[in-house]
Amino acid sequence: MAESLKGTVALVTGASSGIGAATAQTLAASGATVALLARRADRLRALAQQIRAEGAQALVLEVDITDPGQAEAAVQRTVDELGRLDTVVNNAGVSFIGPVAQASAQEWDRMVAVNIEGVLHMTRAAVPHLIRAAQDSPRRVADVVTISSTAGRVARAGQAVYALTKSGVIAFSEALRQELQPMRVRVGVVEPGTVDTELASHMPDGVREAVARQLEGLELLEAQDIADAVAYMVTRKRRVAVNEMLVRAAEQT
Ligand code: NDP
Repeated sequence: MAESLKGTVALVTGASSGIGAATAQTLAASGATVALLARRADRLRALAQQIRAEGAQALVLEVDITDPGQAEAAVQRTVDELGRLDTVVNNAGVSFIGPVAQASAQEWDRMVAVNIEGVLHMTRAAVPHLIRAAQDSPRRVADVVTISSTAGRVARAGQAVYALTKSGVIAFSEALRQELQPMRVRVGVVEPGTVDTELASHMPDGVREAVARQLEGLELLEAQDIADAVAYMVTRKRRVAVNEMLVRAAEQT
């Protein structure tokens, strides 16, 4: 049975759209106070308003996680203003796909900066607070969940660097899991299949249309399906650690 997150604080990166927005709403509905982090502050403010209307508290953090100073300040502000930090969902990410031979160095750099370095900056800043929360909260447990991808499990042609970043965060999470396990900070990864979000809209012209053609007729996952997976992980009783969830669209190979 799901435990309530009442009295806990959850920080969700990439909360301005897609999986992050759905996750923040779902954790708030489970009782958490949420810190909403992304660069598009207008989107975050609208979501915060919606969450407040549903009776929960929300803090807006206009932050670029590729900047270690901004990431650290965001975590500190969360703790200063909301009093604690129990859950971090490393969800912000970008995906640029296409063959290595035609790749853009800037797109590779962006994926490494957001999908890997962003996760590292946020996690490093958050860990001391999570350790504290696991010791002094009524639930006596804290959580880090990182959104990887099926591409982190099985690399495919055309996704070399995206797969590199997403398998990288799985390796990082497993080592971190072992380090934090004695302190009751649970570490997990969710590996979604194809989710109907804005992710592909940031891809270059041509690639975006090719991806859309590939997915034509498939019933994709919805952001809420992944939000539910995250919520399942972080609402388990203290004796349970769900460290990995692979969630494919049922029609996906
Ligand atoms: P969206 O494009 O809807 O969301 C991506 C989020 O990341 C946005 O909120 C964006 O906010 C945020 N973001 C991007 N760059 C930064 C940055 N530098 N600093 C802070 N926030 C940033 O896509 P999804 O919801 O689909 O993606 C969420 C996660 O799920 C990603 O990690 C993605 O790789 C992963 N995933 C998605 C799949 C899919 O099919 N959609 C499949 C498997 C995994 P803003 O632009 O406002 O900063």
